[in-house]
Amino acid sequence: MSVKKLLVLPGDGIGPEVMREVGRVIAWLGRRRDLRFEITEDLVGGASLEAYGTPIRDEVITRAREADAVLFGSVGDPKWNHVGFDRRPELAILRLRQDLGLFANLRPAKVFDALIDASTLRPDVIRGLDIMIVRESVGGIYFGEPRGVETLPDGTKRGINTEVYTTAEIERVGRVAFDLARKRDNHVCSVEKHNVMESGLLWKEVITALQAREYPDVKLTHMLADNCAMQLVRNPRQFDVVVTGNLFGDLLSDLASMLTGSLGMLPSATLGSVTADGRFPALYEPIHGSAPDIAGQGIANPIAQILSLAMLLKYSFGMEAEAAMIEDAVSAVLASGLRTADIMSDGMARVGTSVMGEAIVRELDKLQGCPPAYGVPSSAISKNGEG
Ligand code: NAD
Repeated sequence: MSVKKLLVLPGDGIGPEVMREVGRVIAWLGRRRDLRFEITEDLVGGASLEAYGTPIRDEVITRAREADAVLFGSVGDPKWNHVGFDRRPELAILRLRQDLGLFANLRPAKVFDALIDASTLRPDVIRGLDIMIVRESVGGIYFGEPRGVETLPDGTKRGINTEVYTTAEIERVGRVAFDLARKRDNHVCSVEKHNVMESGLLWKEVITALQAREYPDVKLTHMLADNCAMQLVRNPRQFDVVVTGNLFGDLLSDLASMLTGSLGMLPSATLGSVTADGRFPALYEPIHGSAPDIAGQGIANPIAQILSLAMLLKYSFGMEAEAAMIEDAVSAVLASGLRTADIMSDGMARVGTSVMGEAIVRELDKLQGCPPAYGVPSSAISKNGEG
């Protein structure tokens, strides 16, 4: 296998802490699966602002373009709240998405059996839940022109944003959704508000034509965005792949994430189009932020970041087997009763970030049929959340 180039951007807050645990998994992949990665690491967000006076340097964008995939941590810290919007740490991720043309944001919402009680919904509603929300992420109302705030003749103001989508923008994100569905349960639900928005009407027409032309084997249904929000709570298992625009996707993907109960468990991917020279730009990150309230305490849950690596292996490198092993290792660790503080419940054993990472590597060894290199020291576990 050729050496794959990974750009790793841990970012701020808990980003570097959870990324360290990903490092263990990457080392395991090299040791036990003979996979070789050429890894470059750099600063982004507040860390870059502090070191270089900008949330992301041009050379980091260039490196991201040259990499086979980008693994991102999270950015942001309240100590940077005073800086202008043009220097905010969060700009790092926005620039990466825009400059790399990352237009399709994939957010899986999957419930692990062991965590079924972490959801606020009844277990019978969410058991076995496995949804993929595909959100268009560089168009729509967040980027449409005209935009701004103008002063009216009477001195009051008017705020303006514009929802705008072209056929090409809808088709390219639609193809991502249909391709994904073919590898899952073969069902795409397209979501918009064609009853009150012309852009929604176009969205529905374009997706319908795309399915008829290129994906007749995939089942397509349509749903209004407000009904989709309701259905996600009422009967979420009716969905397989949901495809929608930027604004509705933002809201619906957060809603779907929370069906699973914890931010610390959920990865995401943002994908671009294959370029003329065969490159496939893609960035993988947990959905959570930098969690400044728990940063530096060694208690963050590293699972979302580790599952982001699993998505990277699957979607950028086609390493389905290794991705599945990582997911299975996470399931096994949860089934064994280990929990970080955010997913702690009665009768479980509370562990910190690094012990959770070690436990996942230990399960990977078991799945590979190797004697474990090390175990979790019992001193690192506290029963019932004490200590
Ligand atoms: P957050 O996701 O950082 O935290 C929300 C809550 O969830 C906190 O109580 C936090 O402790 C907890 N949490 C999050 N991830 C966790 C984990 N892995 N393990 C255990 N607990 C976890 O959201 P926020 O507090 O609204 O934002 C904090 C900062 O992160 C802000 O500056 C925000 O702009 C930034 N942010 C960045 C990204 C990104 O980099 N893509 C995404 C969201 C928020």
